[in-house]
Amino acid sequence: MTRRRVSVFGATGSIGQNTLDLIGRDPEAYEVVVLTGGANIACLAEDARRLGAALAVTAYEERLPELRAALAGSGVEAAAGQGALEEAADRPADWVMSAIVGAAGLVPGLRALHHGGTLALANKESLVCAGPLLMAEARRHGATVLPVDSEHSAVFQALVGERMEAVEQVVITGSGGGLRDWPLEHLASASPEQAGTHPNWDMGQRITIDSATMFNKAMELIETKEFFGLPPEKIATVIHPQSLVHALVQFNDGALMAHLGAPDMRHAIGYALHWPERRHLPVERLDLARVACLDFHAPDPARYPALALATRVMEEGGLTGAAFNAAKEAALDLFLDRALPFTGMAPLVETVLDRMAADGRLEADTLDLDMVLHTDRAARAIACELARADVRT
Ligand code: NDP
Ligand code: MG
Repeated sequence: MTRRRVSVFGATGSIGQNTLDLIGRDPEAYEVVVLTGGANIACLAEDARRLGAALAVTAYEERLPELRAALAGSGVEAAAGQGALEEAADRPADWVMSAIVGAAGLVPGLRALHHGGTLALANKESLVCAGPLLMAEARRHGATVLPVDSEHSAVFQALVGERMEAVEQVVITGSGGGLRDWPLEHLASASPEQAGTHPNWDMGQRITIDSATMFNKAMELIETKEFFGLPPEKIATVIHPQSLVHALVQFNDGALMAHLGAPDMRHAIGYALHWPERRHLPVERLDLARVACLDFHAPDPARYPALALATRVMEEGGLTGAAFNAAKEAALDLFLDRALPFTGMAPLVETVLDRMAADGRLEADTLDLDMVLHTDRAARAIACELARADVRT
């Protein structure tokens, strides 16, 4: 049997580790080509050794000596830096997991499409900042992009055998995050530690805080538009505190198809790994009698201003998504540095979009990578400048 060549970008993160858990259960089936990480050199080296990867790459150039030392005698090649990360994506693989966090995942993902294989896309930022570009590149190279975000995997599964014309609405669910039940007037005082705790999902720190603001859901609404090619009016979100229904698709005959599953990312990762087949996965089975009830309610726009920003991004298009994603990442960095309150993130992102839109800097009929990267840098710079000015006043 020929082994399937797999690469995992962001292997040391939450999605990456869940991916390696599945791959590591069937080592005979996979040839691990590339594993990448960032600061967690020990984890990267250990996994690369254990799985016999051909190449291990850290995003940080200055960590190369440490990675080399950790891999000494293993036969695994070591590399470091942004350029090495991008070149690693040129190594042919049949299945590539894109699970770097943030816009840093865009270029490796784009380059991986050149082999015409399968890109399992956890890095939703790629679709938010450059959805039309990424999907066009996939078509150009005959590559397949599969969703890994649990909601989008759920929609994808509900759509098997269906015609898109029959879809009236896609509803993605959100837990409402760790601060869902806090009084509104207390939100301004939330610390990164408080916002970084999720009631149901065990995820990386950044996406967990994005869940508390619902910036994560805002990104996922945009991701839905880009991935499934749906207009904004057909995409909705609903708060579902139990996180057991991941998404629903409303069809034109009145049928509402829901996808349920335990909150375990190995389901969506495994579905993308084995697609178009379903295979046994080591995830918990839901006992509906024990679950007993499923709650749903509309999100409060005052608590979650990020959702209105998502509608704006979907309607304005062009480079608005690139600016939105970068401003959101900058706002999150400022919040983590305690230079911006929890409730300051959405207004900051909105002001960045206002500024850039007023100058006509977000208009574009077609996207190219240079435009996206330029917009990304400009939006981050404006966000930091606005935050500094605000701190001084
Ligand atoms: P983590 O923070 O847990 O992991 C991020 C990974 O990216 C790590 O391998 C990290 O390395 C690496 N990394 C960090 N910064 C850089 C950089 N500048 N350049 C290259 N690599 C970098 O994130 P998650 O696994 O939670 O999320 C990964 C992606 O998947 C995100 O886009 C997220 O939105 C998406 N996603 C995550 C879900 C989840 O359940 N976690 C669910 C759905 C989507 P190191 O840790 O070694 O520094
Ligand atoms: Mg999700």
